[in-house]
Amino acid sequence: MMLPTHALVGLALAAPLALYAPELAPAALLGALVGGILPDLDMYAGHRKSLHYPTFYPLAAVPAIAAAFVWTTPVSLAVAFGLLAAAAHCRMDIYGGGLELRPWEGTSEKAVYDHASGRWLSPRRFIAYDGSRGDLALSLVVGLPLLAVLEGAFVPVVGVALTIATSYVLLRKHLANLAPTVFSQVPEPLAEYVPERYLHE
Ligand SMILES: [Zn+2]
Repeated sequence: MMLPTHALVGLALAAPLALYAPELAPAALLGALVGGILPDLDMYAGHRKSLHYPTFYPLAAVPAIAAAFVWTTPVSLAVAFGLLAAAAHCRMDIYGGGLELRPWEGTSEKAVYDHASGRWLSPRRFIAYDGSRGDLALSLVVGLPLLAVLEGAFVPVVGVALTIATSYVLLRKHLANLAPTVFSQVPEPLAEYVPERYLHE
């Protein structure tokens, strides 16, 4: 799933606090937003492996959530919701497409790397691929209610996420066609940071 979908799902996990404990909501929402985005910071270095932990984030989330129940502070809530959102992100990636330049072709059997078992989990493709219409539908279903529930700075964050999601889905196939051209122009010292999938035609 695309990054805006992960960000919105993260926010949605913490959104109930906006209704039931508004004074604690900002910390939880911020933690959840960061946790939802964080795994995809490995986009250009070991994507869906370096920062994706489909087993360890969920395991770490359990004691963090327990701790946040016992010591309910902004920090403990931010950590708990951050781990919960990162766990949801990595589990969700399994239900999307594989890791390849044109994931709609469905030739990759790599969805997310599981460090616990030391192997790649294969894509289930319930959401066809990141940036598919189904991915956008999920973004809208999760994001639009957030516009009504959240307050303050989180409203424009949701607005921006939905705008990026829509643009990305509209441009998805053009971007894939552009990638090999753009990335083949990268100067030599940076070339080693260009992911393999962007170089093959
Ligand atoms: Zn991811």
